[in-house]
Amino acid sequence: MDNKALPSLLPVYKRYDLAFERGEGAWLYTVDGRRMLDFASGIAVTGLGHAHPHLVQALTDQAHKLWHVSNLFRIPELERLADRLVAHSFADTVFVCNSGAEAMEACIKMVRRYHWANGRPERHRIVTFEGAFHGRTMATISAAGSRKLVEGFDPLLPGFDVVPFGDHEALKAAIGPETAAIMIEPIQGEGGIRPVPRSCLEGLRRLCDEHGLLLVFDEVQAGMGRTGTLFAYEQTGVAPDIAGIAKGLGGGFPVGACLATARAAAGMTTGAHGSTFGGNPLACAVANAVLDVLLEEGFLERVAERGRQLQERLLAIQGRHPGIVAEVRGIGLLAGIRIADGSAEFLKLLQDKGLVTAPAADNVVRLLPPLIVSEAELDEGCAMIEAACREFVA
Ligand SMILES: *Cc1c(COP(=O)(O)O)cnc(C)c1O
Repeated sequence: MDNKALPSLLPVYKRYDLAFERGEGAWLYTVDGRRMLDFASGIAVTGLGHAHPHLVQALTDQAHKLWHVSNLFRIPELERLADRLVAHSFADTVFVCNSGAEAMEACIKMVRRYHWANGRPERHRIVTFEGAFHGRTMATISAAGSRKLVEGFDPLLPGFDVVPFGDHEALKAAIGPETAAIMIEPIQGEGGIRPVPRSCLEGLRRLCDEHGLLLVFDEVQAGMGRTGTLFAYEQTGVAPDIAGIAKGLGGGFPVGACLATARAAAGMTTGAHGSTFGGNPLACAVANAVLDVLLEEGFLERVAERGRQLQERLLAIQGRHPGIVAEVRGIGLLAGIRIADGSAEFLKLLQDKGLVTAPAADNVVRLLPPLIVSEAELDEGCAMIEAACREFVA
């Protein structure tokens, strides 16, 4: 094959023609000197904004001490991170890895191992939902099942039953003697910022308890303060048995984790899983620094307040431009607006006005400001959205 046209960078992304040189708080600066307000946060990753002094300090301090040793050894920073995640969640135990997909892989492996260790190895199937996104590994694309993710990658990993989002009958029908777990994002992120109603999550918990299934939450996007509580599930009254987190956990440093109850994790004995990089001192020092800030008195309350302010302002914009903003979605600072027609063009117009956002399925423009965003910055961002609405012709 003639590869002359192939760029040195594998062309798996369609990139915007924007390159950034530095960031500060909620602001990004392009290489050609433009200042832009960041309502994407690297897709819910840089929750504390850019160049947060506490994170910079933690990273540089640790960089001067020790980066990596391997999980052959005890890692005090990792032990501290695990202790703190346990203290502030449903979980009794934590496995630390490097990304969201790896966190969800660990969740999937833990589910299978749980039933295997209980003498029920036939219970290996996991019920998942259309529109879900759990990552890009073979297991996680198989779990989500959407054509866009799996096309050309057959054979997929067997053992996933994907049911339509919100279809209770299909869900019940999918549960059989081989079912091991139900896996769901409490709020679908990539799928278009679609929160799962509280009553549905309660129903899932009941189904799991009745049938001896594990309930797995993918909080990779919704966790780490984005919805105004450390984890999104805290607002639902429903706790999972296993959960994956990542994105916001390292504030921009790649780190993820699988959280679990003692019961769910019982099968994960010595040698059952591992990672070379997962939980290294550098990553854990940064993740601990992120937690320092998120757990500060009043921080998450402030995030929740900003979330309410954002939703209010977006609803007001929708009220003035119902033909353009068809719907306001989300919880806290995990927000989105569904554009009636031409969400990609609308997102580009926002960029021209100086606002960085992220696309999602279902014609949704995702608005994910950093958790440290000020009310004035929310106003600035919303003013740009309003201006775009006034100008926009799909
Ligand atoms: C981003 C995301 C993932 C995958 O995370 P990666 O770090 O890209 O592997 C998994 N689940 C959800 C809900 C996500 O938003």
